[in-house]
Amino acid sequence: MALSKPVYAARIATYQAYMETAVPGISANPALFTAINKDTADLHFELVPFDAALVQRMTDRAVRVLQATEAHELLPRITRDPSYFECRFCDWQDRCWRLAC
Ligand code: SF4
Repeated sequence: MALSKPVYAARIATYQAYMETAVPGISANPALFTAINKDTADLHFELVPFDAALVQRMTDRAVRVLQATEAHELLPRITRDPSYFECRFCDWQDRCWRLAC
């Protein structure tokens, strides 16, 4: 999962870290990741151990985004192509590509 869907891995690790207060021990146990193959209905189950280093990287990245936003700084886009896959499904596409940089 971490290789094929790194966004999911980051989300799981972040939940485990920041929900520790509400759910004591959540980061001491692996998360159960479940996926379904929509073509075959096969189920995939995977235990995902807590990844503290990943949480730290994601938290640092979030802080960087917030600091840039407060400083009215535009961070580089992930691509130069507005038709890039990720951009086509991004809620901020209109605003992002309207800005000159
Ligand atoms: S459109 Fe969305 S995904 Fe694409 S560069 Fe802008 S913010 Fe990033």
